[in-house]
Amino acid sequence: PPLSVTVLGLGTMGTALASALLDTGHAVTVWNRTASRATPLITRGAARAGDVGEALAASRVIVTCLLDHASVHDVLDDHASALTGRTLVNVTNTTPEGSAELASWAASHGADFLDGGIMAVPPQIGTPSAFVLYSGSPSALETARPALEAFGDVRYLGSDPSLAALQDTALLSGMYGLFGGILHAFALVRTGGVTARQFAPVLREWLTGMVGWASSAAERIDDGDHARDVASNLAMQATAYEGFLAVARDRGMNPLLLDPLGRLLRRRVAEGFGHEDITGVIDYLTASTNTT
Ligand code: NDP
Repeated sequence: PPLSVTVLGLGTMGTALASALLDTGHAVTVWNRTASRATPLITRGAARAGDVGEALAASRVIVTCLLDHASVHDVLDDHASALTGRTLVNVTNTTPEGSAELASWAASHGADFLDGGIMAVPPQIGTPSAFVLYSGSPSALETARPALEAFGDVRYLGSDPSLAALQDTALLSGMYGLFGGILHAFALVRTGGVTARQFAPVLREWLTGMVGWASSAAERIDDGDHARDVASNLAMQATAYEGFLAVARDRGMNPLLLDPLGRLLRRRVAEGFGHEDITGVIDYLTASTNTT
């Protein structure tokens, strides 16, 4: 069934969300600090709210898509009483702690709160490749679900409001590790006259095959067993890794994207774990005393 939904924040992402709601027949009210950014959506049938109070009054479901945690408070704090009885879905990128803070703040004003982590770029919104992680109140999820389905696949992680931000941050951290590796690889082949376009197909083939490692690593990590059935032992991998660093140096490259993992591998071997899998390095990442 169509819902009345207010979208606060019409940057690139907020505009894509409001647009997807219009495409799927919801009644959409929009507000943005810079009012002119609302005009294309008004032309397409959204209602313009003159101020935040009007925007909150217009709908049962309120979506905030602002820059950061502070901007959510900048926008909502003066109107907190207007949130009572409403469902607040925050898809602004926040930390897990920020999401938990917003959840208790919203609850203290009588709002049902759901936090979201959008795993898509704006052009993907409303397409099958988009998914959004949610956590927080199950009743907020049920109320808002018809609207949320317009954005992308709905993935609910549980009632702890910080879960979506935690997993969103983990997914993006993993992605940036991959991006760093890709950039180093392109820089390296460039020193040998191979263009990025030439190298991209085989790099993509190789990395696509390697991402399955996440699943086998997960079993070792959860079982705390880094020594079972090791096909590529850490001592061998660490030796090869020193070679990658030497190649980068020999070619006058900046090795800073490779360096940090190299330090962890070296330490792990030095501490006597060369016979294990590389997964044991996780122990240096989870405890604050283990900095290298
Ligand atoms: P934009 O920079 O395009 O838009 C930022 C929005 O926040 C604008 O509407 C801006 O208003 C508003 N804003 C910023 N500060 C304040 C403030 N203090 N008070 C009121 N309004 C404020 O960002 P996006 O739309 O791309 O991103 C929005 C959120 O979505 C972010 O949290 C981002 O991390 C998340 N996201 C974005 C993705 C992307 O690829 N774009 C992907 C996944 C998540 P004004 O127009 O007046 O400046």
